[in-house]
Amino acid sequence: MELNEYEFWFGLVAAFAAGACIGSYLNVCIYRWPLGMSTNEPKRSLCFSCEKEIPWYDNLPILSWFLLKGKCRNCGAGFSIRYSVVELLNALLFVHIFWRFGLTPATFVYFIWTSMQVAGSFIDVDHTIIPDRITLTGSVLFPVTVLALDLTGHSESLIVSDWKNALFGALFASGFIYLIRYFGTLAFGREAMGLGDVKLMAMNGALLGWWRSLFVIMGLGPALALLMVGSMWVLSRKKMEKFAEIPFGPYLCLGSYVALFWADSILEWWLGLEPGSTRALDSLWQRMIPW
Ligand SMILES: [Zn+2]
Repeated sequence: MELNEYEFWFGLVAAFAAGACIGSYLNVCIYRWPLGMSTNEPKRSLCFSCEKEIPWYDNLPILSWFLLKGKCRNCGAGFSIRYSVVELLNALLFVHIFWRFGLTPATFVYFIWTSMQVAGSFIDVDHTIIPDRITLTGSVLFPVTVLALDLTGHSESLIVSDWKNALFGALFASGFIYLIRYFGTLAFGREAMGLGDVKLMAMNGALLGWWRSLFVIMGLGPALALLMVGSMWVLSRKKMEKFAEIPFGPYLCLGSYVALFWADSILEWWLGLEPGSTRALDSLWQRMIPW
């Protein structure tokens, strides 16, 4: 849908607000899901220290941490700034998605996807697992969503708009990670990569297609992880064994986001191709199959 200038700016502000509020809910999921707690009960957040309910005016996305200088109003216990960071991150990602895709079905699909990536990444950082309720849900939700949008003629705003490419992308990406896991475990004698990463890439592969997934798994993911481990080593000089425990999920998520938005322009720039020509790669696999 074409938006005029005012509608576009209003959309950006609305995307920011929606991203921050959903980010606030993601904080609840990040904390409670791995502990097996419900996100509805208790309804309101409690202070970890004095267990007093936090009223809505002290629980404003992004802002409250700064207004309260990171302390509980009741008992003065400190709150991590990470809550505000998650909310701000999600808000900025929503703004970026709306800026790129406007008022289209793709925007809403990528809003949901990116929220799941944020929640999954932070849970993986805390507990080195990505819950099935994110990855299994996503690996069913996104192929089915692309299928439904494609069959009703609403999929052209998506990066991968053909449902067959989405399904192949999911199978290719998860299969590829599974093989790395299988041979990595054989080679190193310990679990090389979690099953969570396999399911994560099934979900992401549906939206990325096969070659952007390959770009993430072989290029962006390892590069980002090396960059992070390298800079942590320079900064902290901790033993290298400690870094072997670092989950790979957040790098796959970050790499997937980068690939979704920029893999096409990077490849077109690199190979000197016409803009838009990389879309043909998504269906390349169909020509290799005889039927
Ligand atoms: Zn308190």
